[in-house]
Amino acid sequence: THNTERHEYDVVVIGAGGAGLRAAIEARQQGKRTAIICKSLFGKAHTVMAEGGAAAAMGNVNSDDNWMVHFRDTMRGGKFLNNWRMAELHAKEAPDRVWELEAWGALFDRTKDGKISQRNFGGHEYPRLAHVGDRTGLELIRTLQQRVVALQQEDYETHGDYEAYIKVFAECTVTRLLKDGDAISGAFGYWRETGNFVLFDAPAVVLATGGIGKSYVVTSNSWEYTGDGHALALLAGANLINMEFIQFHPTGMVWPPSVRGILVTESVRGDGGVLRNSEGKRFMFDYIPEVFKDKYATTEEEGDRWYTDQANNRRPPELLPRDEVARAINSEVKAGRGSPQGGVFLDVSTRLPAEEIKRRLPSMHHQFKELADVDITAEPMQVGPTCHYIMGGVEVDADTGSSNVPGLFAAGEVSGGMHGSNRLGGNSLSDLLVFGRRAGAGASSYVDSLTARPKVEPELVETALEEALAPLGRSGENPYEVHHELQRTMNELVGIIRKSEEVSEALEAVEKLKERVHLVGAAGSRIYNPGWHLAIDLRNMVLVSECVARAALLREESRGGHTRDDFPGMNPGWRRKLLVCSTEDGSAVTVEEKVQPSMRDDLITLFDRDELQKYLTDEEMTEFDGIAE
Ligand code: FAD
Repeated sequence: THNTERHEYDVVVIGAGGAGLRAAIEARQQGKRTAIICKSLFGKAHTVMAEGGAAAAMGNVNSDDNWMVHFRDTMRGGKFLNNWRMAELHAKEAPDRVWELEAWGALFDRTKDGKISQRNFGGHEYPRLAHVGDRTGLELIRTLQQRVVALQQEDYETHGDYEAYIKVFAECTVTRLLKDGDAISGAFGYWRETGNFVLFDAPAVVLATGGIGKSYVVTSNSWEYTGDGHALALLAGANLINMEFIQFHPTGMVWPPSVRGILVTESVRGDGGVLRNSEGKRFMFDYIPEVFKDKYATTEEEGDRWYTDQANNRRPPELLPRDEVARAINSEVKAGRGSPQGGVFLDVSTRLPAEEIKRRLPSMHHQFKELADVDITAEPMQVGPTCHYIMGGVEVDADTGSSNVPGLFAAGEVSGGMHGSNRLGGNSLSDLLVFGRRAGAGASSYVDSLTARPKVEPELVETALEEALAPLGRSGENPYEVHHELQRTMNELVGIIRKSEEVSEALEAVEKLKERVHLVGAAGSRIYNPGWHLAIDLRNMVLVSECVARAALLREESRGGHTRDDFPGMNPGWRRKLLVCSTEDGSAVTVEEKVQPSMRDDLITLFDRDELQKYLTDEEMTEFDGIAE
């Protein structure tokens, strides 16, 4: 066990989705010796699954678009809880990041006059999403991987070694970050195939590990998404913010059980699909909130006309923001009007000719045929909400991506702040590029600023090794059972709609699960042993779930991805408050309130007084009136 393989780098990037790849490219371009580590195969990350596109105010389709409009849309989408500096940088820099991708070989769809085409999406005032059909994430990853290869070819020319300055370690899972005093000194992990351990000696680590969905039973996330980066950061002494805000996508598959949660794209509704309950009723008409009343159709006839004439009709309520639709489906099922398998019906079969469905929604047609033996051209789908995305994550400095731990950086879904309480579709891919690049640059200049390289303490490596090996020796709890219990707890008690008693009950359950995690055992050896891997991941899932539940219990209001049955309204007093999670040694999570700094004058004055009044406290409004004078 002691021949741990050892590598030295300047910057280690954990995660090979959009954020990780962009960060690694930046670090390499700044001359740093860079490692990219990923838990599964290189190229298999959630980023690949993103369909819609990357939001960037290039103004190609509507020249009225600019960064200020995008900034406003993002702040509105996040219900004004966003880190406004991140929202500003994101809106200003997204177009450059998209053009850069094009320069690196991305083939975006074009407008008639040859510019990068941009499509409409929920919450974006103008057509703004640069896209490649319905597989934008794939093109994004392909392009970034191609860029990595190009840099490796350059390095071969100069150094005679392709991997001299940038190397990918695939199917390698990081289980601990290492520190020398306060500062990062490396990362420790294991190879999935052999179970052998590996040590990365590096003064800077960029976390880009994505989401936490696997803490819930019903999720669109795949097996890697166990909140590793969130937990690694916490255990290294970093803060997490906004952990109570989770995006539940309204339409996931509900049946058969093995595929429950798999995403059913929003395009189904965008292309005419409607939601019905067991009585055949298009129930979304009963769920249009007051604030949206003037923007959505009130009759089926008007809603149906919108698909062909958007100028003279209002859009159907099936296209309300995701959180509204998810809550409505939840209510219908709870009221006993759900479908046989516990969802509601999503139907395109009576709305479009079969050929049209196959042409517009080929992957959905295939998905339902293969996985559920349902022909969506002939019968309705059954769908229900699914845990999709976490707005919360590592608290970072907007400009550099650095956390409060020297040498630790984060970007992409694992970081928090950018999206506030709710993320707009399309703002994720642009987020990855903008803040991936910034974190790579931040890590590089941090390395440059060091006078001495932090040392890897052998004792810490030994502890990490023992921790990872522990489950193998035990004949204790079954990791799959503990995992399932956690998923059920989070799904049922800290799901879309939350109540004080239920969240408290979840916290008690999580406390007990935490003890059971210490007793989990995995049979078999270190060689390709998924039970052992799950046992290791459980530490992370339990820790992250505790953060979600603690923050959800404290925030006594409803906003974006956090709905409290017992506090249904948005409360301006809560808007400026962030809930900051931290831990001493992982045994307990502490949550503290922190007040966000006021928005800069030139940014707040981009909004109308009437709009701000919906979000700000009276005190803040008085301040605003002083500035606006
Ligand atoms: P990811 O792309 O999630 O990559 C994370 C990386 O970290 C992976 O390489 C993983 O292997 C690695 N990793 C994790 N833990 C470890 C560890 N312990 N050690 C080593 N490596 C580790 N967003 C949109 O904007 N538009 C969309 O249309 C859209 N569609 C989506 C569809 C689906 C089905 C899903 C699940 C998400 C979708 N999203 C969409 C969300 C978006 O894709 C993700 O939020 C985003 O891609 C996250 O990118 P990332 O770079 O932060 O991480």
